[in-house]
Amino acid sequence: MAEVTLLGIAQDGGRPQPSCLMDCCKDISHDQISFPTSLGTNFQDGSKHLFDVTRNLGQQLKLWGENDPNHVWLTHAHFGHVDGLGLFGRETIGAKGIKLHVSSKMADLIHSTPQWSLMIEQGVFEIDMFQTGDKVQFGSECIEPIIVPHRDELSDMHAFIVRGENHSLLYLPDHDTWEETLDSYGCKLIRDWLDKLNIDILLVDGTFWSQHELTGRLQTEVPHPPVSQTIAHLGTRLPDDPELYFIHLNHTNPLYDKSSSAFRTVESMGWKVGIQGMKLTL
Ligand SMILES: [Zn+2]
Ligand SMILES: [Zn+2]
Ligand SMILES: [Zn+2]
Repeated sequence: MAEVTLLGIAQDGGRPQPSCLMDCCKDISHDQISFPTSLGTNFQDGSKHLFDVTRNLGQQLKLWGENDPNHVWLTHAHFGHVDGLGLFGRETIGAKGIKLHVSSKMADLIHSTPQWSLMIEQGVFEIDMFQTGDKVQFGSECIEPIIVPHRDELSDMHAFIVRGENHSLLYLPDHDTWEETLDSYGCKLIRDWLDKLNIDILLVDGTFWSQHELTGRLQTEVPHPPVSQTIAHLGTRLPDDPELYFIHLNHTNPLYDKSSSAFRTVESMGWKVGIQGMKLTL
């Protein structure tokens, strides 16, 4: 069976977010620190896959209990998902021959970014390009990248389906709106889309609780479907529904607080908030 470890539940900025002086980050204790979202996966064939690479890679490998992932998969180029790539290079790990699975747009960006292209030249990474809908097989298990609409200043965005022998998980840390994502797959309902993809576990963009969470910044600059909208669309969890965990939480998100009404609402409807370090068997 494949085993997945959730290595972080924070949005790109982490928790506490640098320079935030508000209540959400003011008195964060050590055990409340959250790393940006990333996922470790062990397949039965012995391959070890890391999805997104954050600056907290050191702590995240400890959480995972692995030292040397041999496959890295990148969703997109926003900094929280890629800013740990350099840690595999000569200054730190000095890795060799890690397969770097990226889209062609992401590969272009890697080749045109001096720090990253140097790591390709030095043999730290070997680029392995995927296309949306590919099924990349590892023994009896596989990984399927699927494209989703998300701000694409630098690269496109792929979510990943991890298919084990018994369960299939969708890792979707970022997307812009449900309308656009569902539209691009010809679906009207989240349930229909998950059914079409044959998913039983969903780790999904829970960046903001509501539309009004960012003060002093237009939320249209950073579009994500709010959790309150996602659960309103889904309603209460039905017996055959997938398990759903919200991840990629902004530091302002009340779901960090288990005593908040937002957290109680999510749980009472049968949905969940991801826990850093939790393991799932597929
Ligand atoms: Zn992100
Ligand atoms: Zn904060
Ligand atoms: Zn993003």
